[in-house]
Amino acid sequence: MTSRPSIARLLNNWYRKNSRALPWRETTDPYKIWISEVMLQQTTVATVIPYYQKWTSKYPTVHAVAQASEQELLKMWQGLGYYQRAKNLHKASRIISQELNGKLPSTREELSKLPGFGPYTTGAVLSIAFDKREPIVDANVRRVVMRLLAIEGEATPKVDNQITEYLWEVMPQRNLRTFNQALMELGALVCRSKSPLCLLCPLKDHCAAYRQGVQEIIPPPKRKVIKDLDVAIAVIEADGKYLIQKRGSKGLMADLWEFPGGKIESGESPRQALKREVREEVDIEIAEIRHFIDLKHYYTQFRVHLKVFLCRPENPPVETADRQWVSRADLSRFPMPSGSAKIVDKLQQ
Ligand code: SF4
Repeated sequence: MTSRPSIARLLNNWYRKNSRALPWRETTDPYKIWISEVMLQQTTVATVIPYYQKWTSKYPTVHAVAQASEQELLKMWQGLGYYQRAKNLHKASRIISQELNGKLPSTREELSKLPGFGPYTTGAVLSIAFDKREPIVDANVRRVVMRLLAIEGEATPKVDNQITEYLWEVMPQRNLRTFNQALMELGALVCRSKSPLCLLCPLKDHCAAYRQGVQEIIPPPKRKVIKDLDVAIAVIEADGKYLIQKRGSKGLMADLWEFPGGKIESGESPRQALKREVREEVDIEIAEIRHFIDLKHYYTQFRVHLKVFLCRPENPPVETADRQWVSRADLSRFPMPSGSAKIVDKLQQ
């Protein structure tokens, strides 16, 4: 039987022949690797590529990010979701630019003090940018190792510790960036969550799940509970301008701009919900309500049905820092959640 250290060799050889050419793999700039790793969390490679390219061409250095406003960065991030990532990138960039001469630190101790640098991002930057001997456990790596070791049951923190211990054992002494990226790439391309391609896998001789034929149930498939949510949205127009408001600075999609509206409660018609929400949020009455469009939007745990109405205010509210009247063309300058951004697209068509 092949000894464990050869896992690194097998992965290395496989990666050289099979890895995808991705823009962040063409650089060793720690700043750009950091950006790619943050974007790739919870987001697919195909979605990230254009965002990464746009971001790194607009902000080629960490200083450029530090100089941008948070609203500008949120606009660049629009559509990627999990907006706290962009806010933390901004905060960390300011610290790196102002206190660290624009250079990302290369130790776990220093990196993990920066906003947004949890165990995964810290490990990924240390290993991929600085080639440090650091195990990193993302969803792909977790799946591959759980299968290699035939760890059945849920992926708990205890399982992650077991995976990390195993990675320390099999990691080579050098070329860590290849080892970690190869393991992630193997998870993405071969050891897929559904229908893993075991016959093409360079690690099949090491794989306990493959030997036992249990690879399809490791980790156990997650039962996704998707809830349906009906939401009424008011596109309020007065004098050729539209009313948008800024969300609070805490919680989901904090500090993004959106049209007023909210959940249609049970027993309520969409129009009743619309009037109630606008009264509660903006403290005005609306009239001339016309159905504009229905849209569907998917979040991780929700399927949101947006019922969008065009309406006019009976008494237009005054502007404040968090509530603005904006021309149709200028609406696209504001960072918005995907639902509101879709409405803007439709208004501008
Ligand atoms: S043999 Fe199959 S289950 Fe095992 S690591 Fe390879 S692809 Fe995954």
